[in-house]
Amino acid sequence: MRLLRILICLLLAVPAVAETIVFRNVSVLPMTSPRVLEKQSVVVRDGRILSISTTPAIPKDATVIDGTGKFLIPGLADMHVHIPAVDAKADLMSDTLLMLLANGVTTARGMFGFPGQLAIRDKAKKGELDSPTLYLAGPVFSNTTIASAAEAADRVRRQKKEGWDLLKVHNGLTREQYDAMAKTAKEVGMRFGGHLPSSVDLKHAIEMGHETFEHMEGFIDAEAVKAPISDQKLAALAKQAKDAGIWIVPTEAMVEIVYDVTPLETLTKYPELKYSPQAAVDTWSKRYNERLTQIPRSMAAFVVGNRRRVIRALQDSGVKIMLGTDALQEFVEPGFSVLREMESLRAAGLTPYEILRSATVTPGEYFAKQDSFGTIETGKRADLVLLDGNPLDDIANIAKISGVMARGHWYSREQLDIGLKRVTDKYRM
Ligand SMILES: [Zn+2]
Repeated sequence: MRLLRILICLLLAVPAVAETIVFRNVSVLPMTSPRVLEKQSVVVRDGRILSISTTPAIPKDATVIDGTGKFLIPGLADMHVHIPAVDAKADLMSDTLLMLLANGVTTARGMFGFPGQLAIRDKAKKGELDSPTLYLAGPVFSNTTIASAAEAADRVRRQKKEGWDLLKVHNGLTREQYDAMAKTAKEVGMRFGGHLPSSVDLKHAIEMGHETFEHMEGFIDAEAVKAPISDQKLAALAKQAKDAGIWIVPTEAMVEIVYDVTPLETLTKYPELKYSPQAAVDTWSKRYNERLTQIPRSMAAFVVGNRRRVIRALQDSGVKIMLGTDALQEFVEPGFSVLREMESLRAAGLTPYEILRSATVTPGEYFAKQDSFGTIETGKRADLVLLDGNPLDDIANIAKISGVMARGHWYSREQLDIGLKRVTDKYRM
């Protein structure tokens, strides 16, 4: 078994070589606008997009991928993933990274840091692992990890020195601790985002430089769990977010699970649950049923109804919404959760184009200072997904994956399936 696994790893993890790959006769969704460019050839070399045209010069030794009847989109970003701890059991790390990749996720922002993850990020970047490109928040700032303002400031400096990409705010910080973290972050040039501690209000967090708001905390207050938010308040919230230039990561599908709004019989029928041990699925179901007795149904309905209206209002005001799934939480399987989140955003009223932007263009803008991805344009990182259907017609076509390219390395459907089968076999044999 171990030997087989090593062989498969060798099969998949081919380091980037100076090879030219051409997608021929493909419909391209560049995502710079909602248009589709037909009968294109997209040439990739050295991990970058070299050209997009109808009359390409194709080198003799190029690998050609036939795109007839298929659609090429930019690789997807999941902006809120829990990358496992490096010592997690049962190959959870490699399984998670492969599941992301197999679902077209070519960039993942890890929002739960553990020591040792940076080495994984660096290996992924060099193409030594089958993995999306990773950006990682360091170990969280919360009441369990921080005891004083001075400690918060120290932790910022330490994480900066260690090389984490951002800071993750979690629950329970006092306002003093939060401010010490934020001020030091500004001083040393670290970005931060995450939860909104109850000691801090939205306005103050924005002023302190809180950049990404996860789970839309700060947008659903005590009133919003009891009654519909007024149109006036919705407009004010959206304007505040727009003026501040902040980024919102709703993680809506996950929240709708946690409020037990997505029925348990729907969740337990998710085919992707085969990628987790049955014992985990049983625990999630048990927790779901326990919550049903704790959260009044009327409250859950108001929360979710209002959240969907806030998402739509934010989108209408041009606020930057990014797709995040909170993968590795209950019923949220890495990679497969992207379509689940897309379906939730669709239920909130977003169009397929708006939804796709939240997973491509907008994350690309968020990382614009250090990276170049999110659209199909010359010079961009060659992160691409080849689909058998147009996701602008139906966002569910995002799951019809014919192959994935990450940093110029091509994974065919067959290769991805070999990797995925390795995960299910472990739990279902
Ligand atoms: Zn999370």
